[in-house]
Amino acid sequence: MNPIQTYLKENEEQFMDELFSLIRIPSVSSNPEHKDDMLACAQQWKDLLLKAGADEAMVMPSAGNPIVFAQKTVNPDAKTVLVYAHYDVMPAEPLELWKSEPFEPEIRDGKIWARGADDDKGQSFIQVKAFEYLVKHNLLTHNVKFIFEGEEEIGSPSLEEFCINHKELLKADIILVSDTSMLGAELPSLTTGLRGLAYWEIEVTGPNRDLHSGHFGGAVANPINTLCGMLAKVIDENGKITIPHFYDDVEEVPQAEREMIAQIPFNEEKYKEAIGVEELSGEAGYSTLERNSCRPSFDICGIWGGYTGEGSKTVLPSKAYAKVSCRLVPHQEHHKISQLFKEYIEKSAPKSVKVKVTPMHGGQGYVCPITLPAYQAAEKGFEIAFGKKPLAVRRGGSIPIISTFEQVLGIKTILMGFGLESNAIHSPNENLPLDIFRKGVEAVIEFHKAYK
Ligand SMILES: [Zn+2]
Repeated sequence: MNPIQTYLKENEEQFMDELFSLIRIPSVSSNPEHKDDMLACAQQWKDLLLKAGADEAMVMPSAGNPIVFAQKTVNPDAKTVLVYAHYDVMPAEPLELWKSEPFEPEIRDGKIWARGADDDKGQSFIQVKAFEYLVKHNLLTHNVKFIFEGEEEIGSPSLEEFCINHKELLKADIILVSDTSMLGAELPSLTTGLRGLAYWEIEVTGPNRDLHSGHFGGAVANPINTLCGMLAKVIDENGKITIPHFYDDVEEVPQAEREMIAQIPFNEEKYKEAIGVEELSGEAGYSTLERNSCRPSFDICGIWGGYTGEGSKTVLPSKAYAKVSCRLVPHQEHHKISQLFKEYIEKSAPKSVKVKVTPMHGGQGYVCPITLPAYQAAEKGFEIAFGKKPLAVRRGGSIPIISTFEQVLGIKTILMGFGLESNAIHSPNENLPLDIFRKGVEAVIEFHKAYK
């Protein structure tokens, strides 16, 4: 065991106590009922950062949930690493599918089970414990700042303004984020690209009230039927999105990169088995890994209306609703896509209904060059902790703020995430293997040691 591993083993009980008390605060940003929990969670992070060795830490107001900021200056002339994380979590529902309480963490089978165990309380905790080790052992040669926000899971609506207002405070040479996943526990990887996002809510209105489907059915347009019909046309039989001009700015994946993607070990059978589907589907001409990382996608996230209670009710509803989203790739501008979709759906609606499309949150995609010194330091960190050089991969998810950091602060981000597909983030039974926690801390410590 090396000194870092020994240190982690000796302090594990205390570290778990600290992490568990963070997890016990249900900081669900999408539900206003949790307003007080957001502040409580921010304050707890502030205390932990001070305890870890920050010179100063504070809970700062923003237009929305408070933001935690902390810093340690070891040498004003040295470089500065800014660690970004989020303390808010996704709702835990559906609760009945959890094997243990989502906000009462439990260790089973060598894993921590709870909402936020990985995303992002567990992963942020990795960053803070690595920092603590470096401070304690006098190994920090550059400055470190932390910014933890409480609105990542709802699209970070207040962070851009906060960045604009605090450019000097957030000044740094590189941003470090642990909020992404690796290809596997035995297959470490660094994320070099992220997809963007556009999100809408659609409201379709038919008759001025719910009607008797026997008296009116067949003669009056049913808003749910109409909505389903319109949405079904957004993707054609080849898996292409039919919104006019949607692909205009999409950069075709260079052949060299496609070859690299093809080298990523990927077992399609296991992938299907893990999610319980017989067959995969998507855009013709692209592999599964290309489809979910370098190509845009469209999904209906929720659809509702009419009668959904017990038994049956013969009704022709007045309203139908859907929430839909597109994952975008670098160079697609989310405001532009948002507008294109709105126009397309509103124009394609038949006169028999009224359609309103409301754009919700969105964000740009991101690419990190693998030639950056900080990227190479992260690569080294992984290599030491996991015993393998990590693969550079693009991921299908979105962290809209990463591109905002680039646009507002002019700083590139290193996505040094330690999640696993099986950690089930955003789903019931979210978890984080303890082994990954330990290796993660070691990798981040080695990153700081290697970053010059
Ligand atoms: Zn996250």
